[in-house]
Amino acid sequence: MRLAMLNRWKQEEAQSLSDVEVLTYQSRLVGAEPALVMWGGGNTSLKVARRDFRGREVKAMLIKGSGSDMKAAQPGDFPAVRLEDLLPLYERTEMGDEEMVDYLERCLLDPGSPRPSIETLLHAFLPQASIVHSHADAILSLTNTSNPSGAIRAALGGDVVIVSYLRPGFLLSKGVAQAALSRPRAKGMVLLNHGLVTWGADAKSSYDAHVELVGRAEAYLAERAVGKLPFGGVKSEPLPKEERRRVAAAATPVLRSELGALGGSRTLLRFLDDDQTMRFAGSKLGREVAMVGAATPDHLLNTKRAPLWVETQDPSDAVELRRALEEGVAQYRQEYTQWFLRHAGAGVEMRDPNPRVIIAPGLGMWVAGRDARALDVVSDIYHHTISIMAGAQAVDAYTSLSPRDAFEAEYWPLELYKLTLLPPEAELSRKVALVTGAARGIGKAIARRLAQAGAHVALGDLDAEGAQDAASEINQETAVGRCIALALDVSSPEQVAAAFQETLMAFGGVDILVSNAGVAPTGSLDGMPLAEWRRSLEVNATGHLLVGREAARILREQGLGGSMVFIATKNVTAPGRGFGAYSAAKAAEAQLARVFAIENGAYGIRSNIINPDAVFQDSGLWSQELREERASAHGVPEEELEEFYRKRNLLQAFITPKDVAEAVLWLASDRSAKTTGCMIPVDGGVPEAFPR
Ligand code: ZN
Repeated sequence: MRLAMLNRWKQEEAQSLSDVEVLTYQSRLVGAEPALVMWGGGNTSLKVARRDFRGREVKAMLIKGSGSDMKAAQPGDFPAVRLEDLLPLYERTEMGDEEMVDYLERCLLDPGSPRPSIETLLHAFLPQASIVHSHADAILSLTNTSNPSGAIRAALGGDVVIVSYLRPGFLLSKGVAQAALSRPRAKGMVLLNHGLVTWGADAKSSYDAHVELVGRAEAYLAERAVGKLPFGGVKSEPLPKEERRRVAAAATPVLRSELGALGGSRTLLRFLDDDQTMRFAGSKLGREVAMVGAATPDHLLNTKRAPLWVETQDPSDAVELRRALEEGVAQYRQEYTQWFLRHAGAGVEMRDPNPRVIIAPGLGMWVAGRDARALDVVSDIYHHTISIMAGAQAVDAYTSLSPRDAFEAEYWPLELYKLTLLPPEAELSRKVALVTGAARGIGKAIARRLAQAGAHVALGDLDAEGAQDAASEINQETAVGRCIALALDVSSPEQVAAAFQETLMAFGGVDILVSNAGVAPTGSLDGMPLAEWRRSLEVNATGHLLVGREAARILREQGLGGSMVFIATKNVTAPGRGFGAYSAAKAAEAQLARVFAIENGAYGIRSNIINPDAVFQDSGLWSQELREERASAHGVPEEELEEFYRKRNLLQAFITPKDVAEAVLWLASDRSAKTTGCMIPVDGGVPEAFPR
């Protein structure tokens, strides 16, 4: 256990701030420490005087909005609620969650504000002006033990109140207030299996108390850990890094297939093999402790009650691992279903029964989720779970919620209700695309369009830096983490294999391949150096074979269908003078695409071709040399070349990368589910190039 709890308060920064600014400042300090709160967890409040819409002075409380993130808190994240309307609720003996949410919304001073935290009443019922509530790792390490009161007293001393576990909501809020009022001199309060609450007359004192108590908990855990091996010491050594990634990549499509089976939703996966994960996965007691359950209801909603633990005799044996994953997922689902049936009342619908965390000793861990953000959340939370379990094991033995409480946490009606408020998923949500030649021009426009449609995209390019810039740009525009960049020479089998492996490690699969990378050598067949002809074949034909067959292999293993789109050229159907090496190799690409369609149709994998023409914008293909050469081949001045191409087509249109991307989106999506082996021109209409 590391000793990280710092008091970050700087009075010179805080002293001139307004009340809401001080609260924002305090919240950011709490949020800056992941060992206190993560991903929208925890909350802070400050009781203040405000004027209502008629200018009357009212007692109000600024409280963190539901789901907003403390580390990036803004003053607008703290809606003001009227205490006068909240406090009478203390007299009630019960209140349903949905009624409470509706009630809280009516207490807002400004009707347009964000929805106040679900823990608003807990803050309101406490008399002190400033309240800080976190789900600190070190506190959970104390509460999730077989004798929590003993551990809390030993670590924090006698001046904290202990409240037994209750699901967040009205009853917990009232219980907290009653306990606190009975111990007016207490410094703070520990909620079992949940976290810590501290208070004070101002933001600084509640923050100081919080940091002090968590610091005491950390120091106690560190002391208890001396001389003990975390999780009983090493059981199995990790495989070398390259080896474990090779095995994990070989097994990932099977895992994704299993998780998406039985009508389940397609999922993304991320493979993790950092030191903390490897030590936990390879420890003697890791499995046993992991099966005890999640540390808090909050965590459980993201990681499920327990991970799937997959053990094989020989971690380097990918075949055995695949079999173990198949069996493991099936068993996990069965056990989840039994647990659900044991606790569910009539009319409750079972949620996704699949694991979110999959651990393989010697190899590493996969996390599962609907998008890159969900993968970040599950990964972060499980890393913290490991720390919490390690701390609790150092005290005595890690414990968790009872199966009944765990069920009620996962099937908390308010959480289920929140899920119904999520926006509908985008067309390519939960799908992964790999686009080659994606640093600029057509490839970049395709990557952008697919990401806008909800896909996660791996952008491959010979120009690795360009691919990185494009990925960062698209991540900024769409959602952070949606795109990754790959160094990729499509004519190198090793680089192609590595690019797919990296995509599997980051996103867990591939659903869409857009094979776009190409080169455009020019010159008549007579004088062309043989090396140039061969280079064109290497990239424009063999390159498509290499990426196409690697994609097809993974798509078949996943068993979820798939779409491959090959960016060819108008020259496939209407070749041009002085463009032989290009036209011949691109014709081979088109024929390859059709054979991919024929050989993979039985697996629901489609393969189609797009023939663009004269796309100049941001192009890596149209070098100065190529422009000059094509201008002379067509007998027009070089500066009129684009205009020449425009006038040549029926629609008299300039063709842009976006036009090509739009056609790719259709072929990548299920809207073209019945189309394979097809060739679509995006050329403004060139009669001599009509596919026939
Ligand atoms: Zn909480």
